[in-house]
Amino acid sequence: MREVCFLIGTGGEVLWRDTSGVPHALADSRTRWEMIWWHRAALVEIAHSHPRGPLAFSAEDESTMAALDAALGRSLCYSVVTPTDVLRRNGSGEPEVLSEVPPWVAELRVESGL
Ligand SMILES: [Zn+2]
Repeated sequence: MREVCFLIGTGGEVLWRDTSGVPHALADSRTRWEMIWWHRAALVEIAHSHPRGPLAFSAEDESTMAALDAALGRSLCYSVVTPTDVLRRNGSGEPEVLSEVPPWVAELRVESGL
């Protein structure tokens, strides 16, 4: 199993996927950051997997999300995908567990080895 990160566009399409290894934080790789910046106009959501859970954003996730929002000048949606659930936080609201998941979730789970 491995953590995988997807960048999601306005139409729910996967703009870029980072399946390179064991990325623990959202933006701890130079390439990932460059892809976030490259796709910034279409980027609406950044999703990553926690293959062994938990269904929660880590402290490291939180600080990275804040840094990304500051760098981009707007708030993205962020999601954590576990084997059974998806937790999504949009710009202003509290995180919510999705009752219906978007199509890319299945793909993200497969690429995470789930
Ligand atoms: Zn995380």
